[in-house]
Amino acid sequence: MDIKTVTVCGSGVLGSQIAYQTAFHGFDVRVYDINDAAIEKARATVGKLPGRYQQDLQATPEQTQAALERLTFHTDLASAVQGAQLVIEAIPENIDIKREFYTRLGQVADPDTIFATNSSTLLPSAIMDATGRPDRFLALHFANEIWKFNTAEIMRTPQTDDAVFSTVVAFAGHIGMVALPLHKEQPGYILNTLLVPLLGAALELVVKGIADPQTVDKTWMIATGAPTGPFGILDVIGLTTPYNINLAAAKGDPKRAVVAQYLKENYIDKGKMGTATGEGFYKY
Ligand code: NAD
Repeated sequence: MDIKTVTVCGSGVLGSQIAYQTAFHGFDVRVYDINDAAIEKARATVGKLPGRYQQDLQATPEQTQAALERLTFHTDLASAVQGAQLVIEAIPENIDIKREFYTRLGQVADPDTIFATNSSTLLPSAIMDATGRPDRFLALHFANEIWKFNTAEIMRTPQTDDAVFSTVVAFAGHIGMVALPLHKEQPGYILNTLLVPLLGAALELVVKGIADPQTVDKTWMIATGAPTGPFGILDVIGLTTPYNINLAAAKGDPKRAVVAQYLKENYIDKGKMGTATGEGFYKY
């Protein structure tokens, strides 16, 4: 299937980046959000991206301006999606909001339009029946700052059509991503399936008093050749996310309660949230 026009639904942190990246690679992109205030915010967010592309990718002002001109902004779902071959959804990570959205979307989109969710934690099979077209639905998962961290994990459900899967894998490549196909559903995709246990083990070593964060990172970096260790990665993610994850898991696992407490007392309560605040496990 030939993809020419793409609608991105939800224009927050990730949606605005997906929309601009897709436009930068020559596609016509429509941005949909729920109201004018959300669209104004999206215009402002997208407006900062040309500078980042010029700085990080050495894009020319002509290229970044041409990308802006391929974007249109919409608050009416039906007119935003009619005639689009692909809809990429990046709305809030809430199953009820997503299912309600896909029920509406399925009613107004053209019958052959492909739907892709950028959900980080919800499996597409938990949403697929709401779309009314489970064979044309799958996950297309980006990482924050997609122009630099250009992974696209493409995850099918048992019901995703083979041709739809191949089309989205090819599309990811066409917008400058490295396409990473997952042939079965996996919570956390590939990256978080690897990263979450690594970060958890690193925190456990420190909380148990076995080694300090710098020693853990040095071990990992020297022995594997990685440029950053687990605590350097945690600083980039920001410490609130691991704190919330450990707090949520604390009821069933007392070890996780100790990790949450450690993060709170030593870092979060002191305003050390990671690179965003200039200090976490390291100073920036
Ligand atoms: P966000 O809160 O920044 O943006 C969500 C956007 O959706 C907002 O603009 C909001 O107005 C809009 N919205 C709310 N309800 C809507 C509806 N019913 N229909 C259409 N739009 C609606 O969220 P985000 O961080 O961009 O995350 C969006 C999705 O992307 C989530 O599924 C998340 O798991 C996934 N994701 C996020 C990241 C990240 O680093 N932030 C990374 C990968 C994937």
